[in-house]
Amino acid sequence: MVAKNLRVGVLALQGDFREHIEALANCQVDAIEVRRVKELDSVDALIIPGGESTTIVSLAKTFEIFTPIKKRIAAGMPTYGSCAGMIMLADHIVAAKEGQETFGGLDITVRRNAFGRQVDSFETDISAPAISNAPIRAVFIRAPWVENVGKNVEVLASYEASDGISHAVAVRQDHLLATAFHPEITDDYSVHRYFLDKVCK
Ligand code: GLN
Repeated sequence: MVAKNLRVGVLALQGDFREHIEALANCQVDAIEVRRVKELDSVDALIIPGGESTTIVSLAKTFEIFTPIKKRIAAGMPTYGSCAGMIMLADHIVAAKEGQETFGGLDITVRRNAFGRQVDSFETDISAPAISNAPIRAVFIRAPWVENVGKNVEVLASYEASDGISHAVAVRQDHLLATAFHPEITDDYSVHRYFLDKVCK
């Protein structure tokens, strides 16, 4: 069950925030778009959408919301990031744009564009027993993968890439959840439900 009166925001600077809002509506949660500090202050939890992490950083700075989000995450705000959102939550990035900053908080190293370029985008079913008994529909678009995880990070799903190595693609550390894929553009809401029911509890 979704906690009563939980106010969820979706960072709406760039990327597929509308799809996250729709996925949350399907989970009976009316989410609000977050662009300003006032909106951030009104939410209990945040979703950072897929898009382009370098653009999200620069817009977050322009809107003067970069440091406030970083502080809320560090203070324990439940936050879920998909794809570019995963990169934004990661403490370390490989193949970052020079000087690329993140909100951080999640003790992982992600490799940007790890699965290749746009043409290498793909859709598949992955197993994530902690999230759902059924396979999860996962869409990867210029997706990162997780190269290293700290000792407090739980790997929820992995996927074997063309290099023959199984890479973590869904991780959780306490109040932080991240997926390299985009559940928001499918009609499989199990990751959103897991976030609302288990991470935001
Ligand atoms: N490659 C993008 C980045 O670095 C992420 C892609 C996505 O969110 N679909 O931010």
